[in-house]
Amino acid sequence: MKIRPTKGLTFEDVLLVPRRSPIKSRRDVSTHTRLTDHISLNIPVVSANMDTVTEARMAIAMAKNGGIGILHRFMTIEQHVNQVRRVKRAQGFIVESPYSILLSASLEDARRMMERYDVGGLAVLDDESGKLAGLITQRDLLLAPESLATVKAAMTPRERLIVAPPGVTVEQARETLYRHRIEKLPVVDADGSLLGLITAQDVTKPRENPSASLDGKGRLMVGAAIGVTANEMERAAALLEAGADALVLDIAHGHADHCIQMVKKIRADFPAAQIIAGNVASRDGARELAEAGASAIKVGIGPGSICTTRIVTGFGVPQLTAIIDSVEGVRESGIDIPVIADGGIQKAGDLVKALAAGAETVMVGSLFAGTEEAPGSPVIRDGQKVKVVRGMASLGATMGRRAVERGQDESAEDAEDWDKVVPEGVEAVVPYRGLVSEVLTQLVGGLRSGLSYGGAHNIKELQENAEFIEITPAGQRESGSHDVRKI
Ligand code: IMP
Repeated sequence: MKIRPTKGLTFEDVLLVPRRSPIKSRRDVSTHTRLTDHISLNIPVVSANMDTVTEARMAIAMAKNGGIGILHRFMTIEQHVNQVRRVKRAQGFIVESPYSILLSASLEDARRMMERYDVGGLAVLDDESGKLAGLITQRDLLLAPESLATVKAAMTPRERLIVAPPGVTVEQARETLYRHRIEKLPVVDADGSLLGLITAQDVTKPRENPSASLDGKGRLMVGAAIGVTANEMERAAALLEAGADALVLDIAHGHADHCIQMVKKIRADFPAAQIIAGNVASRDGARELAEAGASAIKVGIGPGSICTTRIVTGFGVPQLTAIIDSVEGVRESGIDIPVIADGGIQKAGDLVKALAAGAETVMVGSLFAGTEEAPGSPVIRDGQKVKVVRGMASLGATMGRRAVERGQDESAEDAEDWDKVVPEGVEAVVPYRGLVSEVLTQLVGGLRSGLSYGGAHNIKELQENAEFIEITPAGQRESGSHDVRKI
C-alpha cells in the first residue's frame, strides 16, 4: 500500500494565471485541434457515446459545427450501421448508394418510400440489370395524372436524364445543375450503373458550414463506439465499412488486459482505423494503450456527471490530475497521439482548463443531453422543460444493453435480474437547452477568450504557457457571482 504525496485536483480546485497577451481580438485565435493522430477538428468538442446524447441527429449537428459525435453502441449492428449512413448522407456532395426503387414498383410504393426515408426523389433501377432506368421525384408524384400507377410511367426515363461521370467535382456538378435548371444529378459509370446522386442542396451545403468536420469525400465525420464482447469485431468491421471515421473502445476500465488485446486486434485487422481507446486515469494506463496501437487516449474514471463509479468502487482520479498524468504517460511512450478529456465538463472554463492541462479535445455528455438534437423529447418537471440523461452503467441502461446483447450474441452474458445489477451511474434530468450549436457557441466563445487570457494563438500555445494555481474554498466562492441576488 502507498499513498501518493500529491493531491488529486479537479477543474474547480484550480484557476489559470493570466499572461501577457498579443491577442487583440477573439478572431485572432484558432480552436483547431486533433481528435486522433490523423483526424483534425475545428473545435475541440466531442459528444459522448451515450444513448441520451449521441445518435445520428446529434452527430450531424456536431460535425456541422466543427466537432464530432460518437454514436453510442446500445443498438444492433444493423441499426448502428444505419446511423453511420444517416450521418454520411447528410452532407456529402455525392450521396453514395442513394435510395432506389425498382422499375416495376407502383407509385404508391415510391410515395411510401420517400416518406419513410424523408427524401425528395428515388433512383429507379431496372429489375434485371440493376442499372439506372430513371428518376422519380416528389414532383412527379404530385403532378402525375391519376391514371398513371407505376413508377415506370411517371418517372423521367434514363434517356431524358442529365447525368454526371464518376469523378465529377463539386464545381462541375453545380454548373451542370444550374445550366439545365435541374435538382438532381445521378452519377453513372460507362456501363450505366448508378454510383451516386448529387442534389442541388448538397452542392451548396459545404458553403453553409465552412468549419464543418468533413471526411475525404466531403461527408460529415462521425465516430462510433464498440465494446469488447465476442461479436464486437464484427461490429467494428461493419461500422468501418459504412464509413465511420473513428472507433471508440467504450470500456469503463480501459487499462485492462482485454482492452489492450482489443486495441491490438483492431490495429492488426484494420491497420488504418482510427482507434480511440480508454478510459484511463493514470500514466501507465495511457502509455500502455498508446503502445498497443491506439490513435487517441480517452481519459476519465469517475468525473462524469451521472457517474457513481467512485462511490461504488472507491476508484478514480480527480479529472485535472488524470489528464496531466495521462498526457505524461502518452509522452513517455514516445508516440504522438492526443488525449481526450472525458467527463465533468459543465462550463467553458472547464474546457479551457482541460485543454491547458494537455488534452486536445473534451468529450461532453450531460451538458448536451438537454439539447434539441439529443435523443428523446423534452418533458415538463416542476414547471421546467427538461430532458432525461442516463449513465450508461445505470440500472436502466444496463438492462437495455443486455437485451441488445442477448438478441445479437449468443455468447453474451446471460440475463441477470435487475436486483443483481450493481449500477455505476444514475438516471437524471437536465434543463432543456435548445440547439447544441447554442451551447457550442458558449463553450467555444469561452475558449477563445481563454486563449486570449493565456496569451495563446492556439491550443498548443495555451498548453505550453499554462500555469495553474490551486485555490481555496474562498477562492472558489469568489470565482462565481457572489454577494448579489440572482435575477
Ligand atoms: P459528463 O459530460 O460529465 O456527463 O460525462 C460524460 C461521460 O461520463 C461519458 O462520456 C462517459 O465516459 C461517462 N459515463 C457515462 N455513463 C456513465 C456511467 O453510467 N457511469 C460512469 N461513467 C459514465
